[in-house]
Amino acid sequence: MTTTGETLVRGKLEVTIEGDATMRRVSLVGRIDESAHLDALVPTLAARELVIDSAGVAFINSIGVRDWIRLMRGLVDHGTKVVLEACSEPIVSQLNMIPAARAGVQIASVHVPYLCDACGLDAAMLVPVDAYGDALRAMKPPTLRCPECGGAMTLADLPERYFTFLVDP
Ligand SMILES: [Zn+2]
Repeated sequence: MTTTGETLVRGKLEVTIEGDATMRRVSLVGRIDESAHLDALVPTLAARELVIDSAGVAFINSIGVRDWIRLMRGLVDHGTKVVLEACSEPIVSQLNMIPAARAGVQIASVHVPYLCDACGLDAAMLVPVDAYGDALRAMKPPTLRCPECGGAMTLADLPERYFTFLVDP
């Protein structure tokens, strides 16, 4: 089942798949709801290692979360090492609230809302988990440089909403 460079359209979600059964990479863009039937993708996505980039996911509803959990469980049961990269804010929120949504998978980087103290820019910033692991576990997210003015950006919300997955595995 080689699916190099293929894009599937499932409801309001585009699923772009690259790689092979050894190392696969999938990008999710759009909205995850009942029309995405994410759980049915287990045989298509299963691999030795699978990286899921969800930066483009703008929305996920409760049925989408249920199917996401089934997808993760199915992949883990299959023996796939799942790495979540560049998780979008809606995905990060669910991963933190629902342990089953992240059971057995590695979270490499997450988008979280930051606010620039100097110019007021409000942006989803990508935070690599490994680089800031200790600080994030202490619920002390890093200060980041504003892409607009170079000023200091800080997290615009409660850190527990975004980083609980690190302390409650
Ligand atoms: Zn700024």
